Amino acid sequence: MTEQQALSVESKLPGVGETIFTTMSRLAQEHGAVNLSQGYPDFDVHPRLIELVHAFMLQGCNQYAPMPGVGLLRERIAAKVLRLYGGDYDPQDEITVSAGATEALFAAITAFVHPGDEVVVFEPAYDAYVPAVRLAGGRPVFVPLTWPGCGIDWEAVKCALSPRTRMIILNTPHNPTGAVLEPSDLEHLAELVEGSRIILLSDEVYEHIIFDNRRHASLAGHPELRRRSCVVSSFGKTYHATGWKTGYCLAPRALTAEFRKVHQYLTFAPVTPIQHAYAEILAEPALYEGLRAFYQRKRDLFAGLLETSRLRLLECRGTYFQLADYAAVSDEPDTVFARRLITEHGVAAIPTSVFFHDGSDRHVVRFCFAKQDTTLTQGAGILCRL
Ligand code: PMP
Ligand code: GLN
Repeated sequence: MTEQQALSVESKLPGVGETIFTTMSRLAQEHGAVNLSQGYPDFDVHPRLIELVHAFMLQGCNQYAPMPGVGLLRERIAAKVLRLYGGDYDPQDEITVSAGATEALFAAITAFVHPGDEVVVFEPAYDAYVPAVRLAGGRPVFVPLTWPGCGIDWEAVKCALSPRTRMIILNTPHNPTGAVLEPSDLEHLAELVEGSRIILLSDEVYEHIIFDNRRHASLAGHPELRRRSCVVSSFGKTYHATGWKTGYCLAPRALTAEFRKVHQYLTFAPVTPIQHAYAEILAEPALYEGLRAFYQRKRDLFAGLLETSRLRLLECRGTYFQLADYAAVSDEPDTVFARRLITEHGVAAIPTSVFFHDGSDRHVVRFCFAKQDTTLTQGAGILCRL
């Protein structure tokens, strides 16, 4: 056998390449472009968080945390979820701290999806869901969000369900569209899943970034849905610390037990001093409560700066992403347009076709407005000249 043959690998994810976020951020860096592509703030975490992590390191909180997460952090998460959504979770058996939302999503899918199971995925979809479903041997069943508007067509969901449906993945506020679920959506969902074996995986990492006085419709707050749900969130979005990769999963006792079977072998527990620091800072609700006003101002600033551009902005109800239709500027495919935007104009965005399994192209790109005002002004200045 030649060395070449010996090393040949049968990929478990043959259709998967480098994530679009990695590609676009690298291109942006190579070309010195204003990076409005990958979703992360270009400003720093709250200085008190850095002091707290440092203090906990100095205090010796440097060994493994308990597998489900630091106790005080789980208690504070429980208190927050109860206060905001009325969802009552036992920190002991129903809350698990994860290495970012990404780990929680992967652990939940791995724990509950068996080979041959079907998983309903709404498109456009955040890129982490489908590879995890496929690795578990599941079959994604794609349901498009309405366009424009990006709502859920509940009749289409009903048609997509079968006796093999094991999971429905939801995401509100929604990346990349900025759409949010309304309480009426949760009622439709409750009606559809009643009496079934379906588990709901709800990605709510942008729970505190929701605009125009809307309330986040968490599945954690719905008495029937929460009984069959894993609700996932992330401190990365809330405290401008995407690089700290700390999140959590809320789920009723029986689901948490299965979730932890995977989590304990995936990461065991995320970084200890960071968990302690989040436990402290969660005691100050003003910080996460102020996030919506902070980002609403940035959303409005960015939209205002683009008023004279030829881009048509779609409605953004939550998240820190703004979709823009560029049909008046170019009829190129969005991947070509996004690449040229970097190389010829010096602004990076994410083409939205990558969020569809069949590459559906709507001539829309996504901009991240979690950026300093000067960055937004600079980026918008270029975009207005297109
Ligand atoms: N879900 C969505 C919708 C996201 O946008 C992101 C990341 N930006 C994640 C999950 C992953 O979160 P984390 O960085 O905490 O793993
Ligand atoms: N969630 C971020 C985004 O949507 C990216 C996360 C990542 O790079 N994996 O841009």
